[in-house]
Amino acid sequence: MVSPPASLSTDEKVIEGGAVVAVLLPLPLDQPYSYLLPEDLSAMPGTFVEVPLGKRRLPGVIWKRQDQADIARDRLKSVLRVHDVPPMPDVQRRFITWVAGYTLAPLGGVLRMALSVPAALDPPRPHQVLVRSDQPVSDDLRLTPARQRVIELAEQGFAHPPGVMAREAGVSSSVVKGLQEAGLLQAVSQRPRRSFAVPEGARPGPTLSAGQASVAEALCGKVREDAFSVTLLDGVTGSGKTEVYFEAVASALQQGRQVLVLQPEIALSSQWIERFERRFGVQPAEWHSDLTPAQRRTTWRAVAEGEASVLVGARSSLFLPFRDLGLIVVDEEHDPAYKQEDGVIYQARDMAVVRGQLGQFPVILASATPSLESVLNVQAGKYQLEELPARHGGASLPEVSVLDLRKDRPERLPSGGQSWLAPSLRKAITETLEQGEQALLFLNRRGYAPLTLCRTCGHRIECPDCTAWLVEHRKWGQLQCHHCGYRAPLPRACPSCDETDSLVACGPGVERLDEEVRLLFPEARHLLLSSDTLPGPAAAQDLMRQIQQREVDLIVGTQIVAKGHHFPWLTLVGVVDADLGLGGGDLRAGERTYQLLQQVAGRAGRAERPGRVLLQSYIPEHPVLQALQSGDRDAFLAHEAETRERGFLPPFSRMAALVISAPDAEQADAASRAMARAAPQAEGLEVLGPAPAPLAVLRGRHRRRFLVKARRDLPLQRLLAEWRDRVSLHGSVRLAIDVDPYSFL
Ligand code: ADP
Ligand code: ZN
Repeated sequence: MVSPPASLSTDEKVIEGGAVVAVLLPLPLDQPYSYLLPEDLSAMPGTFVEVPLGKRRLPGVIWKRQDQADIARDRLKSVLRVHDVPPMPDVQRRFITWVAGYTLAPLGGVLRMALSVPAALDPPRPHQVLVRSDQPVSDDLRLTPARQRVIELAEQGFAHPPGVMAREAGVSSSVVKGLQEAGLLQAVSQRPRRSFAVPEGARPGPTLSAGQASVAEALCGKVREDAFSVTLLDGVTGSGKTEVYFEAVASALQQGRQVLVLQPEIALSSQWIERFERRFGVQPAEWHSDLTPAQRRTTWRAVAEGEASVLVGARSSLFLPFRDLGLIVVDEEHDPAYKQEDGVIYQARDMAVVRGQLGQFPVILASATPSLESVLNVQAGKYQLEELPARHGGASLPEVSVLDLRKDRPERLPSGGQSWLAPSLRKAITETLEQGEQALLFLNRRGYAPLTLCRTCGHRIECPDCTAWLVEHRKWGQLQCHHCGYRAPLPRACPSCDETDSLVACGPGVERLDEEVRLLFPEARHLLLSSDTLPGPAAAQDLMRQIQQREVDLIVGTQIVAKGHHFPWLTLVGVVDADLGLGGGDLRAGERTYQLLQQVAGRAGRAERPGRVLLQSYIPEHPVLQALQSGDRDAFLAHEAETRERGFLPPFSRMAALVISAPDAEQADAASRAMARAAPQAEGLEVLGPAPAPLAVLRGRHRRRFLVKARRDLPLQRLLAEWRDRVSLHGSVRLAIDVDPYSFL
């Protein structure tokens, strides 16, 4: 009998060989399949196994023992092998089931997120290293200086793979090989070393202010309680939220638990990682899309084995198989990047709370601009509140003013071209630069211009596959679709009327703004920061460092500059189009704009020098802009809550979006009519639609949308699932269900 992996040794739930087991596969299936566990294997619920499916061999997880198999025993296929990795903990299986039930995604589709690195299921192969053998150096061996160096190295106890041995000794690999053949060096296999060092939870952090210390103590108390709780850590940018939640991380580490810190955009959080390293002496494990396959494999396994004690990651890290998770911190909890919009559609912040509840441990949500949902949960007594009202070290908050573009009109540029900067903003930039300080111009729009129009016939250049204008990227000489990635060279003549030199760029993107400030402020050192002009996270990090070290004066950037960075010399932030984002059918448009602009504003004056923020707007009376100017966040949130309550909008109701898509418009319409006929009816339930989605065509597929609003006490998921199951849709038609939608396109 094959002995079970050590991690399975003695457990009451052991499933002996010969039993029938239900194995969940990482495929879009709702149910596990039955397999026979061969006599010579034993397992337990959660064991990772390999099973046959048709001609394939797939990884899967034993979901449970199957007492009544749906097929005759002799027709069952057998489990091929049991992987040598700790089984998926019960709590994670319950989490996967919960997420599938809530999002209406197939159970196996959710498992796929947890099984994203099948290669990690097998232990890494031990690698071969060379050590000094017992054989004495015989007289017939000519001991050249090169050989001698290698032998000395080996005799000092160094064990290296051959290549490294040669490099360390400064000799060629044939020298090492010769010694091995002569029997003086011997190959032995060595288990790979730990990949993640243990963070030093007991290392002291900075001396906290009295306010910070009391918040830190409250958070550490939650960790010691070892029970489920959610705490909203609400503090202005620079108030020390990170410093304070590090204390909670330290507490969890001292209790030997694992910690997950979720970040919205992990690739840009190198500053965070450096800070973590300063505080805890080692780097945390990371999880995001930029990892190499080898890194993914080591990290997944280290999380499963409990070796990685702190992991910082993007939303998908929630599905890693933590062996003993004891704390989750959701940093920037309001950030829309926590919503996953394709595949399994879920909100990672909300699912983190669910994970904490299932695992009975505390969850900390940190933000300077908390989401309305979280604020209302505090008011309802479901979440606790800890506040850090002041910037650390007494740095003042920037002064915010709104510039009315109707009065403070941008003048023409000396070249006669259009300008996007109001005279008072230009003046403020001049003053800032004269004082040797930095200015940031923020515009959340990539590229040169959002629209290219023909002056002769009025034609607007659109994406061939989407209901969207193409955005000019002058840097690449291209027009691009920001929805599907379509790219084409910028044409010389209008594609509609063939007139040459008639196409004009309308509206500004960051490239165009950058062009303007280079013209107006030629002596300044310029920097343009936009995700599409950065080759990767390393480049982003380098540019952030240039700003910090004052190697540039005038920065033009999209929202990638908004996040968490600390720029001591930045004292002026100009928001070029504060109205951008306030329109459209997004129920959170106001809230999001407030959060984003507040966050950008927070870049100004973080050190000794006070900052100021100028917001350019055509609608200065808008409540969002008024709230930013007065700094009265609570009044804004109260107003926002009232508006949503009146409109029966989330979180006062529950919402789901159903998007039907098909290769042609007729199919999409037919399918949406069929769906409409089968729509659920219930007291407290509203079904709006079908209507063409605002992005009526996306990647060539025609889209129709239903919006469902339901009273919070209705069983929304059941109603939706029954609705879906009542209609059988044509094979080419797709239905995407988005529970708690954040995107309304
Ligand atoms: P937040 O996360 O709220 O934006 P941080 O934790 O990043 O705030 O703190 C802002 C800056 O102030 C950081 O550079 C941080 O190291 C520093 N800081 C905060 N609290 C302290 C403290 N008690 N002692 C020393 N430096 C601190
Ligand atoms: Zn497109």
